[in-house]
Amino acid sequence: MKLSKTNYLVYRDCAHNAWVKVHKPEVYHAEPLSVFEQAIIEIGNDVDVRARELFPGGVLIRRGDAVGTAQLVDARTPILYQPVFETGRYTTACDILVWNDALAAYDLYEVKASTSGEGRSKAKDDLYAHDIAFQALVLRENGVPLGRLNLVRLDSSYVSDGTLDLDRLFTREDFTDRVAPLLDAVAVEMDAAHDLLQLPALPSAPCVCIYKGRSSQCTTFGYINPNVPAYGVHDLTRIGQSPKKLRALVDSGVLAIEDVPESAELTDNQRNQVNAAKRRRPFVEIAPLAAFLDDIRYPAAFLDYETYPCALPRFAGYGPFNHVPFQFSLHVVERPGGEAIHREFLFTETTCPDEPFVAALKASLPAEGSIVVWNKPFEKGINAKLAERLPAEESYLAGVNERVVDLMDVFTAQMVVHPAFRGKTSIKWVLPALVPSLSYKTLAIREGATASETWNAIVTGELELDEARAARDNLLAYCGLDSLAMVEIWRALLGIAAAREYREAG
Ligand code: SF4
Repeated sequence: MKLSKTNYLVYRDCAHNAWVKVHKPEVYHAEPLSVFEQAIIEIGNDVDVRARELFPGGVLIRRGDAVGTAQLVDARTPILYQPVFETGRYTTACDILVWNDALAAYDLYEVKASTSGEGRSKAKDDLYAHDIAFQALVLRENGVPLGRLNLVRLDSSYVSDGTLDLDRLFTREDFTDRVAPLLDAVAVEMDAAHDLLQLPALPSAPCVCIYKGRSSQCTTFGYINPNVPAYGVHDLTRIGQSPKKLRALVDSGVLAIEDVPESAELTDNQRNQVNAAKRRRPFVEIAPLAAFLDDIRYPAAFLDYETYPCALPRFAGYGPFNHVPFQFSLHVVERPGGEAIHREFLFTETTCPDEPFVAALKASLPAEGSIVVWNKPFEKGINAKLAERLPAEESYLAGVNERVVDLMDVFTAQMVVHPAFRGKTSIKWVLPALVPSLSYKTLAIREGATASETWNAIVTGELELDEARAARDNLLAYCGLDSLAMVEIWRALLGIAAAREYREAG
């Protein structure tokens, strides 16, 4: 079996995982790709296709056509898209090859749907350098004369004027000098990866993620570690940042939350999580909870945004991956004990939603009182970006941001810890624990990434008229539940704060 570039990169991350990917695809792909993961793939394809326009007039190679590629390379075809190369052990497809007369060689362009610029991750650049090195070695073995090795990605500082200037949108970075020193080591690593992936049985080395928090583990962790419970010490809040503590627990055989001994060295938050799990009942810090709830001013407005992170900017003022705010749902409670009045906005025209979005906010949000959201950096960040694009609305949006209260703070600050939260603070975990009568399970759209993709399918005309109508209804139902869920969680918290058992305990 030939080693592909993708499998080599998975191997670099973890040999176990690469072996499972190749030999147990039913385990590796046991969880279907999430809508978010699918969207990343589609975005990558879109960016790839647009990047070809930087080098127009090329020949697009059919998937897997190494023979056709070889003929075109032999004929020195000036520009090739997706050329395929194989050796006895390896296979790879490049994004773009461009013949360079001056060097009498092909320049390689690897396209990534990520952004360049300040703050980019060194680890990512290292990954890209290895990615290009793999290709360079396979091309070299095929006798392809190679010139410069380049990375093409999106310029994070690019701001569209309403059109796409591809020369400014994409950066072309010469990675030749970064890749050259890696080639010998990558060749050795490729050999090792190839040989390991031929093994009929899983390598016996231990799975090192046994000492990492849940978010660092791959999807095959459960297969390799069947003795680790689905909810256990790996799910302790921020345990990934305390590897010594996790190692001490694992090495002493403690895997279930309920088995964590009193003597274990934990943070207060971790200890609260353990106690809630052991006692099988919530833990409440009544004084800070009461103070938090007292700070929410009437009319209390519960607000939720939906947005679409657009890799290739569609509207003036947008840069790569800027979020397009297309929908909000608002529930307003005017006075203590009052009903929640629902208002909503959903924009499905093909034009820029910014102005209608802010106009609808102005028409819907009360002029005073608290604006309650879940995870305030998100809504506040969207408002700040709107203010940049609509300077006339800057002071209004700044005023909105000043009134924002984050209901999630109750849970991140552990004013309430419920065993069913399992250490999570997402509304998708908090709602069923505190308000079991409300659920996302019956909805067609159950999370934000699906909402984003649904909106994109509507506005790009992928859906028939009746499908688009149903999709709109699904979006309204989903976003509506997000803001209603906050209302009901807030009411549940008011009930908890008033309950005698907690007041006495607190
Ligand atoms: S859980 Fe970690 S060590 Fe184990 S297979 Fe996955 S990536 Fe590798």
